[in-house]
Amino acid sequence: HIEPAEIMPTLPTQFFATLVSNVNRQVAQGHDVINLGQGNPDQPTPPHIVASLKEAADNPQYHKYSPFTGYSFLKEAIAHRYKEDYNVDLDPETEVAILFGGKTGLVQLPQVLLNPGDVCLVPDPGYPDYWSGVALARAEMKFMPLTADNGFLPDYSRIAPSDRERAKLMFLNYPNNPTSAVAPLSFYEETVDFAAKHGIVVASDFAYGAIGFDGKQPVSFLQAEGAKDVGVEFYTLSKTYNMAGWRVGFALGNAKIISLINLLQDHIYVSLFGGIQAAAATALTAPQDCVQTLVSRYQSRRDAFFAALSEIGWDAPKPAGSFFSWLPVPKGYTSVAFANLLLEEAKVAVAPGVGFGDHGEGYVRVGLLSSEERMQEAAYRIGKLGLF
Ligand code: PLP
Repeated sequence: HIEPAEIMPTLPTQFFATLVSNVNRQVAQGHDVINLGQGNPDQPTPPHIVASLKEAADNPQYHKYSPFTGYSFLKEAIAHRYKEDYNVDLDPETEVAILFGGKTGLVQLPQVLLNPGDVCLVPDPGYPDYWSGVALARAEMKFMPLTADNGFLPDYSRIAPSDRERAKLMFLNYPNNPTSAVAPLSFYEETVDFAAKHGIVVASDFAYGAIGFDGKQPVSFLQAEGAKDVGVEFYTLSKTYNMAGWRVGFALGNAKIISLINLLQDHIYVSLFGGIQAAAATALTAPQDCVQTLVSRYQSRRDAFFAALSEIGWDAPKPAGSFFSWLPVPKGYTSVAFANLLLEEAKVAVAPGVGFGDHGEGYVRVGLLSSEERMQEAAYRIGKLGLF
């Protein structure tokens, strides 16, 4: 008899599992579904990175266990990138942890910092894996609402004093999944003050850090003065280099937190395949034209999609960053009912906002994850439903 631990059924799978199975059913029935519901980049990894893996795979050095905390050359490569892109200094040996994708670090951070009953502040709407990590640590979540009237930034003055005093950890994520908002440096400066004052560790999830539109590069949390004293940033190659399947991410910043993450990783993973680490270093140190190409591709898709949305009368502000758009659902629909309708009637898959938290109700998340033509077609198909 197999009985899962009590925590297991509370992990958030429901909405996305349903979305995937609904899409698969439509596809199996022969429908041409435009799937903009998930967060999976649709482009391949740039060829110079793939070539680097192929070459490294022949190197017998990499066939052994990698060093427990990963190869120094990869830690140096990410430190180099942060210096180039953000003018942030990181000590590769003490302020960098190599992760199996950002996700493992995001889920493990609560395990290494929180005791059962501690409070973690989590954005609502937000990326559901913050909840998983906090749940697995048997800690308590308190949600920080992200609303349009506040630019989808949390308002620290509205956190209940009792929650604020009990909070030990806080997640932030800009460019934001799902709302596509980007945070200014002043917000991170305010965050450092708030966190230092109340003894809260900040976890900045910078998964979409490379993707900012209209020539504006998103700011890293680590650019705020004092950021390393209060927290860490999670970075990943998944979105920046279309490497989601490769599982390469980093925790960067506070040395004490980095050593705790490394300790837990040692007990679980040892470290990524050395050949992948070599290719990841190539991604980070080679000329970054592929990143510029990727960002302009998302921007062209955004512009084409929003031009078509405006033609059909679905008005919303354009995303400032990330590869998502966050669109209000028409009156009279819940986000789930509306997403279901779009899939059934227009064969367009989108993610219901409520899957990201209660404050996501009233919105759907639409990924800029198909070609310009398909993005436009998605909008026109939706327009034919006559809802706007
Ligand atoms: N954080 C956010 C906000 C994401 O959307 C994702 C992936 O979808 C991740 C983190 C995790 O990325 P990975 O584990 O591929 O590095």
